Amino acid sequence: MNRLAKCLANYVPLTPLTFLKRASVVYPNRTSVIYDGVQFNWNQTYERCCRLAYSLRSLNVARNDVVSVLAPNVPALYEMHFAVPMAGAVLNAINTRLDAKNIATILRHSEAKVFFVDYEYVPIASEGLRLLTSDLKDNKSPDQPSTGPLVIVIDDISKPTGIRVGSKLEYEQLIQDGDLEYKGVELKDEWDALALNYTSGTTSAPKGVVYSHRGAFLSTMSLIQGWEMSTEPVFLWSLPMFHCNGWTFTWGVAARGGTNVCIRNTNANEMYRNIAKYNVTHMCCAPVVFNILLEAKSHERCEINTKVNILVGGAPPPAALLEKIEDLGFNITHAYGLTEATGPALVCEWKSNWNSLPRDDKARLKARQGVSILALDEVDVKNKETMVSVPRDGKTMGEIVLRGSSLMKGYLKDDKENTKAFRNGWFLTGDVGVIYLDGYVEIKDRSKDVIISGGENISSVELESVLFKHYAILEAAVVAMPHPRWGESPCAFVVLRKTNELTEQDILVYCKQNMSRFMVPRKVVFVNELPKTITGKVLKYELREVAKTFKIDI
Ligand code: ADP
Repeated sequence: MNRLAKCLANYVPLTPLTFLKRASVVYPNRTSVIYDGVQFNWNQTYERCCRLAYSLRSLNVARNDVVSVLAPNVPALYEMHFAVPMAGAVLNAINTRLDAKNIATILRHSEAKVFFVDYEYVPIASEGLRLLTSDLKDNKSPDQPSTGPLVIVIDDISKPTGIRVGSKLEYEQLIQDGDLEYKGVELKDEWDALALNYTSGTTSAPKGVVYSHRGAFLSTMSLIQGWEMSTEPVFLWSLPMFHCNGWTFTWGVAARGGTNVCIRNTNANEMYRNIAKYNVTHMCCAPVVFNILLEAKSHERCEINTKVNILVGGAPPPAALLEKIEDLGFNITHAYGLTEATGPALVCEWKSNWNSLPRDDKARLKARQGVSILALDEVDVKNKETMVSVPRDGKTMGEIVLRGSSLMKGYLKDDKENTKAFRNGWFLTGDVGVIYLDGYVEIKDRSKDVIISGGENISSVELESVLFKHYAILEAAVVAMPHPRWGESPCAFVVLRKTNELTEQDILVYCKQNMSRFMVPRKVVFVNELPKTITGKVLKYELREVAKTFKIDI
């Protein structure tokens, strides 16, 4: 049997690019992209991508070159998810919240050959390019080009502004100048790089995570399945496409012949308006977006007539918040992942026998991060030192580890971090969790956020979920604060629904009634808002810096 050889007919490199070609055949007239006043169908989207890929080749973009882009969720960014790899290049979608210094760092580290910039981001990108150019001049190294990338503006497709920079090239011009008969560079090896995504650096310096065509294909397929996304979904882009390529749904919506509803901003009105207008069926977001939807003023809301399925992840969704958003009529699926895992790696797969459980229990089960998506071979929780699995008791904490073909190829030009991340055939997530008898994993913290008080590990996530249950608390984040006797003790930063509705004493009394004594925060600080990344993660290191300044008496 082993003598049966692979051939071009039965061994084709796996790539999500095939989803677009297929969509143009199977759903040619179905709306593919909607943005403001502009709409395309799948046939047009395919043709536009072919044209753009051709134009990129004409600009000397070659195999493995990096094409960076700084843009919100507009049609151009969606199309580049196909057109850039069709040209053989690697897509690097940059976080739109980064400052000029970080943009320069990414352009430099990735050695971007072309840099697409949405018109709104021209000022910050120009500053980034200025820093990059002076940096390149000062540090002439033989392996780095001494000039920056070719810069191309993405003007507003609906209401063009005429803003241009440098080369004066503009995205739509490239589409027009391209050849719609061009079918792209033939992919020979599915291990070739498809995308490069920099981690947001919430716990360490940003690292360049490289995805392969194969990994992205398998991840996309698994997530469509794990979320049970049926054909022809209407997908609202409430999640930034730059975040792990929209958790692979940039490719996934094409695979299902869906409609991409693109929006520039994720404010309450934009979301409600678009959900209602286009009968949105699916969206992804971080838990922070739930608060935006829940707290919306009446004039910002619209009546919703569809069942909206939300895939939530990126940060722990407290059980209490899950209950509230489901009460509003949304259908929630919880997923856990990280940039290195091509977005979600675990999904909290719902068991039908849980349907009859009391509300509280259901929310508690749904708040668990879940089980591996199909592309993953395995997930486990291990003692980080010995790499021995912890007991499946839902109590013993260890490092969450993953293994499977949807994981990244590795970090770009960073052997040290690659050696740290992959160990004994496992990928170490840097997250601490527990595993239950039924194989479901629950995250307790990021390793760096665990509070170690008098030798006891305190999970900030657990503490936050208790605080969240209090009706008057809108948001809470708990971090370690130095303590003269215990080493560290928890310090809670709290945002109240109404200012002055509670005192520090009220919260401490509530905590004493609802958690073990050693977990009770030693200090509560009221703030108007918590510092967060655009992907909805609380910037805990900023809070830790504040907590360091507090003096605790024994
Ligand atoms: P960065 O690591 O750059 O901040 P990522 O998007 O890769 O950005 O963040 C991944 C991290 O987000 C995970 O390691 C985990 O700590 C957290 N995370 C993701 N999904 C969940 C979830 N469902 N529950 C709790 N934490 C989550």
